[in-house]
Amino acid sequence: MHKHAHLFIDGAWQPASGQGLAEVLNPATEQVIGQVPLGDERDVERAVMAARRAFPAWAGTPTKVRAGYIQALAEQLEVRGDEMAALITAELGMPVQWCRAIQVDGPIDGLRHYGELAALMDEVREVGNSLLLREPVGVCAFINPWNYPLHQLLGKLAPALAAGCTVVVKPSQETPLHAFLLAELIQSIGLPAGVFNLVSGPGAKVGEALARHPQVDMLSFTGSTGAGVRVAQAAAPSVKRVCLELGGKSPLLIGEDADLAAAVRHGVRDVMLNSGQTCTALTRMLLPASRYAEALELAVAEASSLRLGDPLDARSFLGPMCSAGQLRTVREYIHIGRQEGARLLCGGSDAPAEFERGYYQRPTLFADVDNRMRIAQEEIFGPVLCLIPYADEAQAVQIANDSPFGLSSGVWAGTAQRALNLARQLRAGQCFVNGAAFNYRAPFGGYKQSGNGREWGEEGLAEFVEVKAIQC
Ligand code: NAD
Repeated sequence: MHKHAHLFIDGAWQPASGQGLAEVLNPATEQVIGQVPLGDERDVERAVMAARRAFPAWAGTPTKVRAGYIQALAEQLEVRGDEMAALITAELGMPVQWCRAIQVDGPIDGLRHYGELAALMDEVREVGNSLLLREPVGVCAFINPWNYPLHQLLGKLAPALAAGCTVVVKPSQETPLHAFLLAELIQSIGLPAGVFNLVSGPGAKVGEALARHPQVDMLSFTGSTGAGVRVAQAAAPSVKRVCLELGGKSPLLIGEDADLAAAVRHGVRDVMLNSGQTCTALTRMLLPASRYAEALELAVAEASSLRLGDPLDARSFLGPMCSAGQLRTVREYIHIGRQEGARLLCGGSDAPAEFERGYYQRPTLFADVDNRMRIAQEEIFGPVLCLIPYADEAQAVQIANDSPFGLSSGVWAGTAQRALNLARQLRAGQCFVNGAAFNYRAPFGGYKQSGNGREWGEEGLAEFVEVKAIQC
């Protein structure tokens, strides 16, 4: 049992002003595995003012020293990596087969990169009679979701520390435990008091208070588009910078000349990873009509081969959904898909009989999906894949871009040149060609209603930077 009765504010574990504790459930067992404080506006006030007081000294700390703290944190995370991965498996339900590499090691790689990028803060550019200086934006607030919790936290924290910002973090109520372990590691490396503050609690209370607070200079939010709009509205009167990383409904465009078996296999696995709870999941598979029947067979075979099971079992590909609420949402969408006339190929909204408890959902495939259906336009955030036929590649590109979102995309084609040509035509912040890997050194972020910022890489640092022009 991970019982946390205190918040981490101003370099110390302090009792929360907010009353009561929130329970954290293991979605595989439905057992309570932890408790964290239900923080409130007074906790936000203390945390923001601690970050405000710490800001001048941290901003003035030499970048090499700041980079040293980043590397020290990366080392601590490596040492405690198995513990961190086990915690995320317990609170999120991602199987052990994936959790350490995807939820912990990848983010550490991204964190380390900011140890190197911190030096960019010292660069001075000359433009005519101006000197351009980079300065930290100030006190930052982070509001995060639950699906890749450490990745999302470090994607904000690492560039903020590199730039010289101080921060207040609000983790998701579903998965707050990793953030308490991270705070412990931050304390162990001796990061100056007030640079990192942690306030758990409800979005409508703690999140809104952070968004509104006039002493917060920058808000970085990752979550659903609806909540993103609300925090942007709450932030508007104080004219703070708002960086939004929101939802997606990303296409995988499989070209006429693609290796169909490889492309379909990759596409199915991509959606089923983390039980479909991935903002970049390629949930609309666009297939040439001439090869559609063959592709459906391949997709069903692949989906059926993926083991749904206990996240602690090394053979499990999919674990449970993160929460009962998320499971309900997914089943509602499966119901909607059937009502809309899509053809259910496998899966469905019935509870799998083999599990006595846990929020398990079978991999679900829909064929004959029209891109205008709700199941193709709205983010489901579960293991549900829409297979959509197209007549020619011009139509495929049109369907791919016919979405309110633009977070990610994928193309699969016979030659690199054709794949690149298709990739250029897609309106999304990322495009994965022929199953290429995620790159922590490249910027990540959305077009359209998927957001307005970038995380990771140099562009991720820029979110935390003010540029000053000195004319001389
Ligand atoms: P969510 O929007 O419900 O919650 C995200 C965070 O916002 C939580 O910490 C929550 O407590 C807080 N929150 C909710 N309402 C708030 C309000 N009114 N004011 C302030 N804070 C509020 O999202 P979720 O269910 O936790 O996560 C899933 C969503 O996140 C999906 O839409 C997914 O696509 C998106 N996501 C996006 C990215 C990205 O980088 N673009 C990455 C991961 C997840």
